[in-house]
Amino acid sequence: MAKRDFYEILGVSKTATKDELKKAYRKMALKYHPDKNPGDHEAEEKFKEAAEAYEVLSDEQKRATYDRFGHAGLGGAAGGGFQGRGFEDIFSQFGDIFGDSPFGDIFGGGGGRRRRSRGQRGGDIRIKLSLTLDQIAKGTEKKIRLNRQMACNDCSGTGADKGTSFTTCPTCQGSGEIRQQAGGGFFQQIVVSTCPTCQGEGRIVSKSCQTCEGRGRNTEEDIVSVKIPAGVMEGMSLSVRGKGNAGLRGGPAGDLIIQIEEKPSELFERDGDNLIHELFISFPDAAMGTQTEVPTLDGQVRIKIPPGTQAGKVVRLKGKGLPNINGYGTGNLLIHINVWTPQSLTPEERKILTKLRDADNFTPNPTQEQKGLFSKIREFFS
Ligand SMILES: [Zn+2]
Ligand SMILES: [Zn+2]
Repeated sequence: MAKRDFYEILGVSKTATKDELKKAYRKMALKYHPDKNPGDHEAEEKFKEAAEAYEVLSDEQKRATYDRFGHAGLGGAAGGGFQGRGFEDIFSQFGDIFGDSPFGDIFGGGGGRRRRSRGQRGGDIRIKLSLTLDQIAKGTEKKIRLNRQMACNDCSGTGADKGTSFTTCPTCQGSGEIRQQAGGGFFQQIVVSTCPTCQGEGRIVSKSCQTCEGRGRNTEEDIVSVKIPAGVMEGMSLSVRGKGNAGLRGGPAGDLIIQIEEKPSELFERDGDNLIHELFISFPDAAMGTQTEVPTLDGQVRIKIPPGTQAGKVVRLKGKGLPNINGYGTGNLLIHINVWTPQSLTPEERKILTKLRDADNFTPNPTQEQKGLFSKIREFFS
């Protein structure tokens, strides 16, 4: 059987938008739904045909291939993909795309007395939150502005228009279930599945709420207040229960999941709960000793550089790191001392240094302990 054009099947133009495709598919799926046309083989074929067309056209890549090469371009990928597949398969496949089944979207809504509690949990919302080391050190409270799906106020999430009621679902006659025979002979079995028309509720909305178009939810701006504990790290996720999208048909709301990002600091590098600061001192300061200021998260502090300080020395400022997220104390600030070598010299400076070059005190003669400095650094950083 020659395949019909996918656009023709859905009755849309070649330039149809995603929304138009979705609407067209819903319309077809409802019209040819096998439960509404029991025993009608032609309707069943049309239903599968529409599902296949929608599978291809709703996928940008597949659609582009189809536009260029027609059915041949899709090869086995989608060709006849739905033949021989159960209806539940088709529903579950498109459940993802619609965020709900196409039928749920139309008849949807939730709540109500007679519900068979098939309420679907709302989706999680994931966001990234960028924090400075300062905020991480002290912990912070953030007000996060986001768009999330909330239960519709006008219908209390039921999806039904004011004053209208629910009618018994014509597909399942109110049972909420579809029974299908599977197999044959001795091994015949009855497969019970959720009614796709009413999502197992046993009833449908006779007139949809105009505010939410029967979905029971609206996308609204919300501000969620979140307490960020001190010591969080890049890549950590915090979830705020119930602050994701509202559930469907009385299902629980999803979570707001906050992924922590750390803003890079110009002053500190982070190593777990420790902070590292690279300090550069001049050669005369290293040789003669000095006092200098170094930054900490609580402001500048003075440290002493003793005479004869070697490059690579680490000064540990206890407790000036970050608090441990699990409450195991506070890390340290490690001041890593670098001795700055001038990048150019005036003739005068050159003269002085030439004099010093051959002086006994300037000939490297490290002690055993100084030679072991590297392993010491490792100890500090591990
Ligand atoms: Zn039903
Ligand atoms: Zn509503």
